[in-house]
Amino acid sequence: RRAKFAELKSEAPMTLDGHRCTVMVNAGLRDDVAALDLTGADGIGLFRTEFQFLVSATLPQRERQMRLYKDVLDAAGSRPVIFRTVDIGGDKALPYLDHDRHGEEENPAMGWRALRLALERDGLMKAQARALIEAAAGRQLNVMFPMVSEPWEFDEARALFEAQRDWLAGRGRKMPNQIRFGVMLEVPALAETIDMLLPRLDFLSIGTNDLTQFLFAADRAHPKLALRYDWMSPAILRFVRRIVRQADAAGVPVAVCGEMGGRPIECMALLGVGIDRVSITPAAVGPIKAMVRSLDREKLMAYMAQLLEHPPRSLRAPLTDWAAANKV
Ligand code: PEP
Ligand code: MG
Repeated sequence: RRAKFAELKSEAPMTLDGHRCTVMVNAGLRDDVAALDLTGADGIGLFRTEFQFLVSATLPQRERQMRLYKDVLDAAGSRPVIFRTVDIGGDKALPYLDHDRHGEEENPAMGWRALRLALERDGLMKAQARALIEAAAGRQLNVMFPMVSEPWEFDEARALFEAQRDWLAGRGRKMPNQIRFGVMLEVPALAETIDMLLPRLDFLSIGTNDLTQFLFAADRAHPKLALRYDWMSPAILRFVRRIVRQADAAGVPVAVCGEMGGRPIECMALLGVGIDRVSITPAAVGPIKAMVRSLDREKLMAYMAQLLEHPPRSLRAPLTDWAAANKV
């Protein structure tokens, strides 16, 4: 099987009925970029920039950040890379940053993390913005903000980037030829105002790891809850379907970048509600391509539309049966 997956490296993730999907990889360290060539993925759909901060004993200065981003872009070549701004704080505390000045957090996942921290400690975000803009000189830069809960947070973060861009441009630095801005949808509240934000977005990525825990109010690391709420539940799949419809109507590309997209049956369910772009762990690219290439997408979408009318507690059993019956 492994050999079979390796053969798919140069094959496109195209469904039987001719729909070209996009399969990208999640990465976070310089060495992860090798996964692009090894798997034949379409790009990096989520580069977790906080990894460099987490593995470092001291705060990575702008120059060091820039070198990493440049190396990643060089290695990716013409394939797109989406850099997510730092998602630190909460349980990803940095010893050299005293962001725990409010003391221990009782609910770190719902705490002072990611954009919430970055917009307030904006020195960190400004340095990262400059590092990203300079690293992408002459190329396309894709910036994605984590844990956006309300549209104004995106607006503030983008304004911060644009101010840094103007500052660098004023000093004659070479600029990226395009800067695209997107958000991760991982806080359910954002879904209620996403129609207002979509016109200003270049792309959207659904982070199903955090989204699931917030949608169900169930800690994603809690062993007793891990099996209780299924990614194949109607709540998740209807949620994703609603977002896909809104994003499609607004002409904004939407992806899934959580672990859910890397599991064949889960990913198939996502395709069945209209997702056609995923960013996944590199080891999953082969199995996911194999699934996509054996799937009649239209047929699955029709079946899922019917299933989601009066859904069972989980769609796992009916979809597993459907996949077997249809040789997916
Ligand atoms: C997510 O929340 O789904 C996600 C992709 O981000 P992370 O796992 O880094 O929180
Ligand atoms: Mg997340």
